[in-house]
Amino acid sequence: MLVLKFGGTSVGTPERMENVANLVTSVEGRKIIVLSAVSGTTNTLMDITNAMKSGDTEQANILVNSLEDFYNNFSKKIFKTTNYQTLGKEIISRHFSLIRLFAAGKFDDRTRRELLAQGELISTEFFHAHLHERGLKSQMLPALHFMSIDENNEPELEKISERLRPLIKSLEKYEVLITQGYICRNYKNEIDNLRRGGSDYTASLIGAAVSADEIQIWTDIDGMHNNDPRIVKNTFPIAELTFDEASELAYFGAKILHPSTIVPAQKFSIPVRLKNTMDKEAPGTIISDNSEKGKIKAIAAKDGITAIKIKSSRMLLAHGFLRKIFEVFENHQTSIDMISTSEIAVSVTIDDNSALNEISEELMKCGTIEVDHNQTIICIVGNRIAEKNGVLKLIFNSLGTTPIRMVSVGGSKNNISLLIETPYKEKALNLLNKGLFDSHD
Ligand code: ADP
Ligand code: ASP
Ligand code: MG
Repeated sequence: MLVLKFGGTSVGTPERMENVANLVTSVEGRKIIVLSAVSGTTNTLMDITNAMKSGDTEQANILVNSLEDFYNNFSKKIFKTTNYQTLGKEIISRHFSLIRLFAAGKFDDRTRRELLAQGELISTEFFHAHLHERGLKSQMLPALHFMSIDENNEPELEKISERLRPLIKSLEKYEVLITQGYICRNYKNEIDNLRRGGSDYTASLIGAAVSADEIQIWTDIDGMHNNDPRIVKNTFPIAELTFDEASELAYFGAKILHPSTIVPAQKFSIPVRLKNTMDKEAPGTIISDNSEKGKIKAIAAKDGITAIKIKSSRMLLAHGFLRKIFEVFENHQTSIDMISTSEIAVSVTIDDNSALNEISEELMKCGTIEVDHNQTIICIVGNRIAEKNGVLKLIFNSLGTTPIRMVSVGGSKNNISLLIETPYKEKALNLLNKGLFDSHD
């Protein structure tokens, strides 16, 4: 069994959706197809919920109407026969009646989540109908029947597997099963989601749940690049990555993968292949247990970081002190990304500021604190690079006089992280690209 996930741009126009259908039918064997919403849809649904939240019903209606127009045009192009054009209209009318009902009602978080789910529900229905119009047998595998998260928003892999395996068995005669990425049910059985970009995570959870042979993430670029292609010119695709390398890159900002994608795949050693829908001959990236050691593979950057420094006049690092500090973060369910210590101070970074006020108040009992917003973690990744002689020299030489706020080495063998102020990010990524990869051929 293969799991193939196609992102928003890959199904972003009727032509591209047709291209995905060609691609799916050219792959042999049984497969589960995970689809994102058509590109732009989740953003628009998000804008609708924001307009509703601020009481701007007029703006919400404008957005709903223009999204519906978009789908009407999409439907007219993707469906060729009258029967299927009627089906397209029916799909749109069903979902948009619901969207209008939500938009007219009282705004709350549950409504927001139900609205956000409509994108993947529509794209999968369209794709399924498109395959049928072409005479290809496919069957829907509704994500809301098997994908779930617990009270801590963690996917319930065992339960997902227990639900999914018999479902798939009962659909044995179908080669192509289609499901929605991103959406799930929470512990209250309400509609929820796996956070932005979550369709990648859906694919790897399904791959792990059914012991797939391979998880393929099809997107709009030819694999994981050595640096962020939105910021740096002349980046190139990396042929092979280990699970650890890919995991670090995803967690530290490589947008091509949702931060948690690698975790379930790695647990069951299921290879993850990144491929380009627009250039399917391109080799892409294979993520598995194997990879060349001691080589700098890639750089990623994660914005929206806050650095907190806790200073004490006493010996801060006397035993028990760090525990007290970490407990503050644990009590507020806020995870720490980077840490650096000196005798009288400790600096940590967080990417979730929702409990920052409470955390700061409690930390003040331990010493004086300084909070810096608008920071970026730059993460340099390679299998065992931290053991390679001269790597730090190369990194610091490349960065020249760029101010660095924190450095983390030795936490893992695969990662060297730096904290800088976000306005220096573009320059730092470009300097590192030049210094670390210029000899690449
Ligand atoms: P999808 O809609 O298919 O999920 P995404 O937009 O989420 O696609 O991810 C693909 C995009 O990730 C690429 O178009 C690229 O701009 C961006 N990206 C950021 N960092 C990297 C990287 N290191 N390698 C490849 N792509 C990256
Ligand atoms: N449609 C969702 C989003 O835009 C999930 C995804 O595309 O992976 O975030
Ligand atoms: Mg994505």
